[in-house]
Amino acid sequence: LKNSDDEAISLKILVVGKLACGKTSIIQRYCHNHFQPKYKPTIGVDFQQKLLEIMGQKVLLQLWDIAGQERFGHMTRVYFQNAHGAVVVFDSTRSGTFLGAKAWKDDIDYCFNKEDLPTILLANKCDLLTQPYTFPEDIDAFCQTNRFHKYFYTSAKEDTGINEAIEELVKVILESY
Ligand code: GDP
Ligand code: MG
Repeated sequence: LKNSDDEAISLKILVVGKLACGKTSIIQRYCHNHFQPKYKPTIGVDFQQKLLEIMGQKVLLQLWDIAGQERFGHMTRVYFQNAHGAVVVFDSTRSGTFLGAKAWKDDIDYCFNKEDLPTILLANKCDLLTQPYTFPEDIDAFCQTNRFHKYFYTSAKEDTGINEAIEELVKVILESY
């Protein structure tokens, strides 16, 4: 995967999670430093790109955005093809979406035959909480059992944690090649 010359390598990253958790907002913040407060449901599949340099390697990151209601439909499997990593998003103000994150990770594991696709977990919308987010279960054990590399607290609105999370994911992907 690593290029000896100056060329950028392309990495395909899936961004999944339940409806309205902030997948599109995270991608917009990361790629265009923009936040849209009004909710516009994503239709079908879309992707945004960002060029970055990490560990001396130029990387063209493609963040793939899928509509949340598409979970495990036929489209999902097509869209998972050739991915290098995944970002699973849940909404820290809606506890049900945490279980949705596990369901999405199960789909990823199933599609990749349990071959570990580097994956991180994002607790998004942390700006809306009056207290720091507490996970409904032991999060270190949860990440280990479900093979999430790491978890991060994020806010697409306030631009918290997103760069750090994605950079960490890209590092893990580059190290695994
Ligand atoms: P998606 O369905 O997962 O793509 O979710 P969207 O990115 O469309 O976001 C759903 C709604 O939540 C929109 O109204 C966003 O403006 C809002 N939203 C997304 N991320 C955040 C966040 O970090 N903080 C707050 N306060 N609102 C957010
Ligand atoms: Mg969306």
